[in-house]
Amino acid sequence: MKYIVANWKMHKTQKQSLAFVKQILPRIKTKRTIVLCPPYTDICPIAPLLKKTNIRLGAQDVFYETRGAFTGEISPLMLKELNVKYVLIGHSERRSILHENNRLINQKLRACLKHSLTPILCIGETGLQRRLGQASHVLRNQLLTALKGTHKLKNIIIAYEPLWAIGSHTPDTPENAEKTNEFIRSVLAKSSSAATAKKIPILYGGSVTPRNAPSFLKKAAIDGLLVGHESLLPGHFVKIANCAP
Ligand code: PEP
Repeated sequence: MKYIVANWKMHKTQKQSLAFVKQILPRIKTKRTIVLCPPYTDICPIAPLLKKTNIRLGAQDVFYETRGAFTGEISPLMLKELNVKYVLIGHSERRSILHENNRLINQKLRACLKHSLTPILCIGETGLQRRLGQASHVLRNQLLTALKGTHKLKNIIIAYEPLWAIGSHTPDTPENAEKTNEFIRSVLAKSSSAATAKKIPILYGGSVTPRNAPSFLKKAAIDGLLVGHESLLPGHFVKIANCAP
């Protein structure tokens, strides 16, 4: 079963999120797992609308402690109570703008697993790293440091998001993305087992549109899509979610 994950970033007020969900609900006709990651403030009002649908709730981040003096942070327990099932971890905007490092990402990922939230770990190389032939090294390092100390690789999703493709209208090709996902799976297989690695969904993200989504979803090694700006428009998002194959 493939995934379609919407990352709304810092877009949509509560009213706008509610209007969006009401528009898409009758139009989503897919068995795929759809995950909406709205801003924290929108989770509460839209959660009741998603009950008894195949749309799940995700958060865009989480803190690694459960409670305490951590001004501005949100804990895994707070998200769980709102019926959040998935959490984006290590999105490139948090790595670059908010200076999240691999250690913090590892702590957040482990906190998700501890509290039965499924982390969607985002990894990706910059354009320069790709041109210098460093992409595999960067991806391996991001992956292994984020997964350090996790015993069973279960309930984890990886999203391969090349940084140069995010918000750039220049997606990777489905062929390259497929090869990279195969490489990621081979790294996972070495750090666990081939059988375990096979079960971990590996998504692609970066300038996905209704037009290019089918060619990514056709690829066996691409288990779904993480969608940014095109997930903000109900019509476009519905097309991506419903598209064949
Ligand atoms: C993202 O931010 O995760 C993303 C994939 O963005 P976009 O689809 O806008 O490239």
